Amino acid sequence: MVLALSDELFQRAQQVIPGGVNSPVRAFKSVGGTPVFFVSGMGPYLTDVDGNHYIDYVASWGPMINGFSYEPVVHAVREQSIRATSFGAPTVQEIELAELVAQRMPAIDKIRMVNSGTEATMSAIRLARGYTGRDKIVKFEGCFHGHGDSLLVKAGSGVMTLGLPDSPGVPADLAKHTLTLPFNNTEMVQALFEQLGQEIAAVIVEPIAGNMGCIPPVDGFLESLRKSTTEHGSLLIFDEVMTGFRVAAGGAQELYEIRPDLTTLGKVIGGGLPVGAFGGKAEIMDCLAPVGPIYQSGTLSGNPLAMSAGLALLRSLDNNFYQVLEHTTNQIVDGLKDEARSAGIGLHINAVCGMFSLFFTTQSNVLNYDQAASCDSELYRKFFHAMLERGVYFAPSPYESAFVSGSHTKLETDETVRQAGEAFRSVA
Ligand SMILES: *Cc1c(COP(=O)(O)O)cnc(C)c1O
Repeated sequence: MVLALSDELFQRAQQVIPGGVNSPVRAFKSVGGTPVFFVSGMGPYLTDVDGNHYIDYVASWGPMINGFSYEPVVHAVREQSIRATSFGAPTVQEIELAELVAQRMPAIDKIRMVNSGTEATMSAIRLARGYTGRDKIVKFEGCFHGHGDSLLVKAGSGVMTLGLPDSPGVPADLAKHTLTLPFNNTEMVQALFEQLGQEIAAVIVEPIAGNMGCIPPVDGFLESLRKSTTEHGSLLIFDEVMTGFRVAAGGAQELYEIRPDLTTLGKVIGGGLPVGAFGGKAEIMDCLAPVGPIYQSGTLSGNPLAMSAGLALLRSLDNNFYQVLEHTTNQIVDGLKDEARSAGIGLHINAVCGMFSLFFTTQSNVLNYDQAASCDSELYRKFFHAMLERGVYFAPSPYESAFVSGSHTKLETDETVRQAGEAFRSVA
């Protein structure tokens, strides 16, 4: 595999862009080598600047749930771009997307659109603090909620990979209001609430963690969060930027049958354009300006191009879609496990419909950050490059989820498993 043009572009990029990238995990720091520069995508396939083709499992970090260049999305964007790309005034598409989301997620009465997942979580935190009149928030180690100041404390993936447990530039005075607990530890949540419950504005959680690799909640964990927050007048925020419309039509909250007070969304909701959203109970959402006093705004929020893309994608995602997606995911996961076993490689895989993660470990489960961080990242690095060589693009970090799309057919999953078998044997 030749990456000559990617190499050249990466050199050039580093002259004018810090690290050559606009988001750290793209830089391949944790796997080494040159980031691949892509030119096009079609279904589950990507083509890079050197003309190499890959089967993709990054999906632009989640949004491409029906593959690249998905016709209904391309069509919607093309049509809207001719009419106008932005007005900074209300449009019908905003209402249609809001109605569609509210219908799929019964916990959402009202919703506001923003431009990224980070914006969604920052806004939800401000809203929770304003609504409760409290400052403290609780998050979990390894959960990532974007790069907002209050949330960049023990955050997963990019931060974990780069070894920045906490970022310079986040005022200690602010970070001290963020309390962190181990994911999946119900006892510690209860103990914390008994001690400080009256001061806690909100608990924010990825209901299925996806940014320290994919880690589903253990039985009773989300239930206990719902119970403790309700008892102490705190809000429960589900950060479904990754899991929303990924694991079920109604997100993780549908799968686990828990109604959070607020939900944050992103990724799939924008159909590949920059979109985020936060929504929840009308009583809470109506505290936002212009109805209430809590301020939040955005020049391009609810952008018609982005709304059109999101609508076209969400409309294609019915219950049948998720059944197929789950089946495809299971096929890959089962295949990878078999191949790893026969190559003598210790591999644990966590998976939920449409997302999965490879943990190179002999542990029989991976339930939290400490367990994820103790896996063999060097082996992942080798596996990643062996797969890239063989035309399969996984995330360039051991702490990410792999994403399956509706465009992956048996042809691609069989090919992936076959190449993984060779890759396992080559790194064993
Ligand atoms: C990606 C992600 C974010 C941040 O979204 P951006 O659009 O990158 O700002 C927040 N929370 C979760 C759970 C995510 O996966």
